[in-house]
Amino acid sequence: MIRRAGALLAASALLLLPACTSAPDDSSSPDRVLVFGIDGADWDRAIPLMRQGKLPALSRLARTGTSRTLISLPPGADGRERLSPTIWTTAATGRLPEAHGIYHFVTANESGGQQPVTSNRRQVASLWNMLTSRDRRVGVLGWLVTWPAEAVHGYVVSSYTPFIFRWGQGQASRPIKGTLVEGVPDQVWPPDLQPELERLKVAPASVTDRELADRFTGVPLGADPSEDLAGSIDGMRWSWAADATYEAAYHYLAEHPPGGERPELELVYFASVDVISHRFWKYMEPDTWTDGPLGDDEIEGYGQSVESAYRSVDGVLARVLAREEAPVRTLILSDHGFRENRASTRSTSSGWHRPQGLLLAEGPGIRSGRLLDPGSVVDVAPTVLYALGLPIGEDFDGEAALDLFTEEYLAAHALTTIPSWETEVAPLREGAAVTSPVDDEILERLGALGYLD
Ligand SMILES: [Zn+2]
Repeated sequence: MIRRAGALLAASALLLLPACTSAPDDSSSPDRVLVFGIDGADWDRAIPLMRQGKLPALSRLARTGTSRTLISLPPGADGRERLSPTIWTTAATGRLPEAHGIYHFVTANESGGQQPVTSNRRQVASLWNMLTSRDRRVGVLGWLVTWPAEAVHGYVVSSYTPFIFRWGQGQASRPIKGTLVEGVPDQVWPPDLQPELERLKVAPASVTDRELADRFTGVPLGADPSEDLAGSIDGMRWSWAADATYEAAYHYLAEHPPGGERPELELVYFASVDVISHRFWKYMEPDTWTDGPLGDDEIEGYGQSVESAYRSVDGVLARVLAREEAPVRTLILSDHGFRENRASTRSTSSGWHRPQGLLLAEGPGIRSGRLLDPGSVVDVAPTVLYALGLPIGEDFDGEAALDLFTEEYLAAHALTTIPSWETEVAPLREGAAVTSPVDDEILERLGALGYLD
């Protein structure tokens, strides 16, 4: 068990939101669980916007659900902070990095170089493996470190890390969050869905300056941005295109669920709040930026971009929830929060991570209108299992966050455990084809498709 950090409760301001107006239906019937991941979301940014009525979906859930600060993973033994692929894998496994083995965006390959980390490097069972082993339907969409897509009872729309396109070309080869890329194999499970979903891809090049400005900036993007700003806008365009692609895939799969039935558990992930917070923080808090002056018009326009990223993902959440015909249990979480980065000299990292992420749970069996002490991201997977009536592995590093649930629910649903999920999931792995990680063939193929520039 990792030690809980102290009560760093910026989230106490949540109590100042308008009072609870309706309690969720407290039925104990099995319900869908939706895990909605927002990379880098932070209560300190969200709460003021909620109070201004700018995040209606999140505000509604906060009023009728239970909120807490979600503490990210502590730094590794080398003192380095944990990055998103590591943290999202912990959220989906209930295991610390030493157990799950995903340490970074990249991993060593056999020839002594590096390559993007792939799903087959994960050493332990994930929620989608666990549900599959029990014949329970699961859907996974955009979650980090899910390419190649694993065989599941349900669907996987994986997160392919596209930065190999420019691998080895210095600055430009830094990782970008994953997306669907036409022509890359094994991105979708079941495989016959891949052509359908590729057709839904929103290509970054198709997102016009006008669309981007309408969504994320207060001003037209301008014909001739500085190189720094152009790089940041590029990240904005990429991440929105990826989010829009996954949202389109979500709605398609809601209408055409593989097997004809929607999953009991869906895990979805959206990257743009993180990507935009890194790049546009300095325009929002120009006093924290020490590496050269920023233009007044840039501050006026791009100063709204971080807020706009929150509003944008709140819109995604609203549209996703509008699909539900019956009450759904929703778990909204981030892998870490965000703060200014005074030490930065890179324009793309004027904002940086802080350990305080967010968690908001809402729906049948979840306490209403509560604000709890901070929890840990390592507790997410066991909490989801408990909500689905599945046992917790005794080898987990986290535990179910029972304080999210009502007394009635707790009384009616005993927490169960098994020694380990690994023995249940191992037979699935043995039957699965060994999938090659990124190799020369794929690189060549991408080159032929014009992705390698
Ligand atoms: Zn980040």
